[in-house]
Amino acid sequence: PVVLFWYRRDLRLHDNAGLYHALRSGFPVLPVFIFDQTILDALDDKQDRRLEFIHHTILEMQQEFRAIGTSLIVRYGKPLEVYKELLNEFDIQAVYTNYDYEVYAKNRDKTMADMLYENGAEFYAYKDQTIFDRDEILTGSGSPYTVFTPYSRNWHNKLNDFYLKSYPTQNYFSNFLKTAAHPIPKLEELGFKPLNEPFPGKTVRSELLNQYKETRDFPAVRGTSELSIHLRFGTVSIRELARKARERNFTFLNELVWRDFYFQVLDHFPHVETSSFRPAYDHIPWRNNEDEFQRWCEGRTGYPIVDAGMRQLNETGWMHNRVRMITASFLCKHLLIDWRWGEAYFAKKLRDYDLSANNGGWQWAAGSGTDAAPYFRVFNPTLQAQKFDPKGEYIRRWVPEFNSLAYVQPMVEHTMARNRAIEMYKKGFADS
Ligand code: FAD
Repeated sequence: PVVLFWYRRDLRLHDNAGLYHALRSGFPVLPVFIFDQTILDALDDKQDRRLEFIHHTILEMQQEFRAIGTSLIVRYGKPLEVYKELLNEFDIQAVYTNYDYEVYAKNRDKTMADMLYENGAEFYAYKDQTIFDRDEILTGSGSPYTVFTPYSRNWHNKLNDFYLKSYPTQNYFSNFLKTAAHPIPKLEELGFKPLNEPFPGKTVRSELLNQYKETRDFPAVRGTSELSIHLRFGTVSIRELARKARERNFTFLNELVWRDFYFQVLDHFPHVETSSFRPAYDHIPWRNNEDEFQRWCEGRTGYPIVDAGMRQLNETGWMHNRVRMITASFLCKHLLIDWRWGEAYFAKKLRDYDLSANNGGWQWAAGSGTDAAPYFRVFNPTLQAQKFDPKGEYIRRWVPEFNSLAYVQPMVEHTMARNRAIEMYKKGFADS
């Protein structure tokens, strides 16, 4: 008899909650990773930064597993079908894993737990990707928070060493099943082509933690950690990172609280995945002009900070947070395009794409979400650029034709767009 540990967005051997519990189950442990066909089929671009990141990580992990005499089982298919096969191959007592808060994942896990149970095996899931989740941080009356500031106050009050302690998985590595190496499919066998981009670094730069508060809002400098992809796939442990942040920089720690906040919003209010958190916002008469959307996607709006951001996204798969806020606001307010269009475009392009944070960010920009800015506050992209890119360095890096005759005229005039947005929002509320 064996137990399986099912890797999903927790791609590391050290400090992994579910893996720790599997290793202490009393049965030999086999680690498993499934390239989920349902997810891969939905990707229309067959060069995908995230898939490549996962694939690279899996190969690295396999080396670590080989060094301790075991092997990761890597399969391609629909998870339920794959597990049915595994049940035929092994005498499985239980499957251990870590929680995932997205609707697709929650449904998948429920179906999986039922199927395993029918076959005499248990399914155990653990909190691993957040510091607090589910009902750990609630208001005085026992409901989930929908506003960040009181949530974060409660989060910081509750934080102590217990929640930040690492799981010492390394002490139990001898409990892995000793096996020969299992093969890992090549990217090409999964129907994808490599991009061969450099693998993003995962150390927190020390000077970053010292200066984060001062530098984080300026896209021309490397003032943020750029760890988002590692947090997304669990190649960095949130507990280790939060420990460093607690010692060194409160502002940085608070960004990790935003991350927890949006996970718990998604978990408690799953309707946000497809609808506005505030229902009145689903009545806004969006203009949804496809040509204008295309210009925004390509970074040809004539607003240099917006264009710089979109080009950074298109070329690198990452965009600075301040510029994510500006580009998102521009789409929703200046162009009156449904936030879901922008959300879907970011989802396709961002290498750190995470449904909870992306949805939270977009609904914040549209004003439709939890803790949103008031609808009548419309970012002025020109003033934002003056404030956060005063020398135009970021803009010139991504929009080299800026300040030349070759640069396009603004596609919409700011004051008109601002007034139009406020009017249309009001109309939406009146119709709701
Ligand atoms: P740092 O500033 O170094 O922050 C450290 C970590 O804290 C980040 O890696 C991230 O995990 C977390 N974090 C920081 N800000 C936020 C935030 N506002 N919400 C949630 N977590 C946060 N973040 C994603 O990880 N995936 C997304 O798909 C995503 N989409 C976004 C869409 C919009 C419209 C907006 C406004 C923000 C979005 N964010 C998203 C949040 C934020 O922009 C990124 O986390 C950040 O830019 C990543 O860069 P970093 O790792 O250098 O961040």
